[in-house]
Parts: sequence; C-alpha cells; structure tokens
Amino acid sequence: MQPTALRAHRDSREFEVTWPDGLSVRLPFRRVRGECPCATCIDEITGARLLDANTIPADIAPTELGYSGNYAVKITWSDGHNTGIYTWDRWRWLSETAEAK
Ligand SMILES: [Zn+2]
Repeated sequence: MQPTALRAHRDSREFEVTWPDGLSVRLPFRRVRGECPCATCIDEITGARLLDANTIPADIAPTELGYSGNYAVKITWSDGHNTGIYTWDRWRWLSETAEAK
C-alpha cells in the first residue's frame, strides 16, 4: 500500500501521512528520524537499534525528500544523515503504531 499523501509540516515538525483506507496520522520528525532503517541506525542482522534517540536534535527536520522508485522515500535530515530509505511498508508501520498510542 502506498500513501495518498505525505506532507512535511515544518511549523509543527511533523509528517502528515494519509492512506487509501482512510488512516491519517501525524508523525513527529524526531520519531521518524529515530526509526531510520539504514545500516548505521539499525543492525541489519539482529534488528537492534544502534542509534541513541537521545542524540537526535529536538529541532531535527527533513531538508530533502526524494522518491526512490515508487516504493520508498529517501530522507535527508538537518543533522546531515541521508542514508535512510523509508519504504511504504515502514511508513505504514509508523502510522499504525502512531495510532495505537
Ligand atoms: Zn539511519
């Protein structure tokens, strides 16, 4: 499944994600940065998180969003990190867990 809309709201520091089934959530930039799926942030073999969420700046924001094929978004962050490829599956998981909170 692919979102029908993905917007970055810089004033509130959140992504707004809307899905075809009606699910619509706001995801703080900081949380999305903390869930970066790249090999620097998550151990590819064990799945353990290598990134200490406490080191993420409070004012973290995306500086560039690039679509990677039609299955993912590559995010460049204001802290210079740019190796995270966020698949639609990951956005969906982030959205579903945001709603459960
Ligand atoms: Zn990363």
